[in-house]
Amino acid sequence: MYSIAIDGPAGSGKSTVAKQIAKKLGILYIDTGAMYRTVGLYCLENNIDLSDEKKINTILPKINMKIELLEGKQEIYLNGEKVTEKIRTQEAGKAASDVAVIFSVREKLVQIQRDLAQGHSVIMDGRDIGTNVLPNATVKIYLDASVEERTKRRCNELKWLGKNYDAERIKLEIIERDKNDKNRKYNPLKKAKDATLLDTSSMNIEQVVNKILEIIKRKIEIL
Ligand code: C5P
Repeated sequence: MYSIAIDGPAGSGKSTVAKQIAKKLGILYIDTGAMYRTVGLYCLENNIDLSDEKKINTILPKINMKIELLEGKQEIYLNGEKVTEKIRTQEAGKAASDVAVIFSVREKLVQIQRDLAQGHSVIMDGRDIGTNVLPNATVKIYLDASVEERTKRRCNELKWLGKNYDAERIKLEIIERDKNDKNRKYNPLKKAKDATLLDTSSMNIEQVVNKILEIIKRKIEIL
């Protein structure tokens, strides 16, 4: 059994490559960002102030999160409602980043993440996987890309979905999210000392997937 931790900022390509690697290796994919997005969505839908830590501490037990894991795919339920698609908005992403600074939120979600990884080979992506959730992961990767490239990717995604967007606004949101994630008090986004850094700015998805598969195979062979 082995575990692969993939960390990096928004738009670095983590989830796309993690899903493909999970399918290729026949292991489980765990998307931890989806869990923070689900807490963010609950707050948005219930008009809870995202900066009201005391309030969020009290409503946290009311959030029942169920996660279904299939090879290369994860479904997430919030109090019985499937929210896998609903959480994929810019607003839910921003709300996720806001609630992710709260200790009790992180404590609850990290426990769920560690429980899910028990007894399986997994690839898990997020911001604090290599540094905090799975400190003994077999392979740790830190994916990065320039702000310009990450903006371009996000705009292409929105274009593909037929949605309107303002590239300058997207860029500012990415910069703001990086700032939030890298500077928060608990488990900020940072490269684990023993993680391999991959800058994907000038790589396509296939190249990133192949590079990571190479690193995994090399590591597993020597174990
Ligand atoms: O990866 P994704 O964009 O879905 O993550 C949404 C937000 O959730 C991130 O910007 C980050 O603030 C938070 N997050 C986190 N720790 C993780 C995964 C996500 O703080 N392990």
